[in-house]
Amino acid sequence: MTWLELADGVHARRYEHLDQTLGLVVGGERCLVVDTGGDEVQGAQFAAEIRAITALPWTVVLTHAHFDHHFGTAAFLPCPVWAHARCRAALARGAEADRAEWVRRFAGTPRADRLAAARLVLPDHPVTGRVRLDLGGRVVELVHPGPAHTDHDVAVHVPDAGVLFAGDLVEQGAPPSIGPDASPQHWPAALGRLLALGAATIVPGHGEPVDRAFVTAQRDELSRSSARPSGSA
Ligand SMILES: [Zn+2]
Repeated sequence: MTWLELADGVHARRYEHLDQTLGLVVGGERCLVVDTGGDEVQGAQFAAEIRAITALPWTVVLTHAHFDHHFGTAAFLPCPVWAHARCRAALARGAEADRAEWVRRFAGTPRADRLAAARLVLPDHPVTGRVRLDLGGRVVELVHPGPAHTDHDVAVHVPDAGVLFAGDLVEQGAPPSIGPDASPQHWPAALGRLLALGAATIVPGHGEPVDRAFVTAQRDELSRSSARPSGSA
């Protein structure tokens, strides 16, 4: 498991643990880090690996408030940290409960200690509507497609490369994770909005990068399951 270069300066970092995928977009003046991992050890390793690719200053964007996407952020400070305004609220309200739950699940492994020790960082740059970030010769868009995996998902579109980092709106290798904070009835429409951005390569939060046909099929499957009467399988 290692780096995939999806386009010039657009990278996905794959991990065996949780089948996770983090992202990096390199511009001419700065780079954008898409999610920071589940603890500061992972975050620091990811940061060091990014430094092997580019020496440019970084900006962080968090796709959503689940522990595996943000507890590595302290390793990148000081830097701007973008996320949806409701992501910051969700972190302030729920990150400690999320941490406690996963420390319990990781009990007896080094990951439990690493997660317990990670500092919580609240994002300081709120995404409202669509945000365009100029990385120098390359503009990326931060897009909230509406409620789906959470009520505050942010996807990262790299138009010149035809790549979209979709966070956990898309999963490859496992079905999408529909937790208590998800909106399965709105999820298909959110995927439709992401597909409308036109990217050819979509990077999931977990699993391998996929194409538009994969995301279309996942959207249709979510439509069918959210149309089923509740209580049925
Ligand atoms: Zn998630």
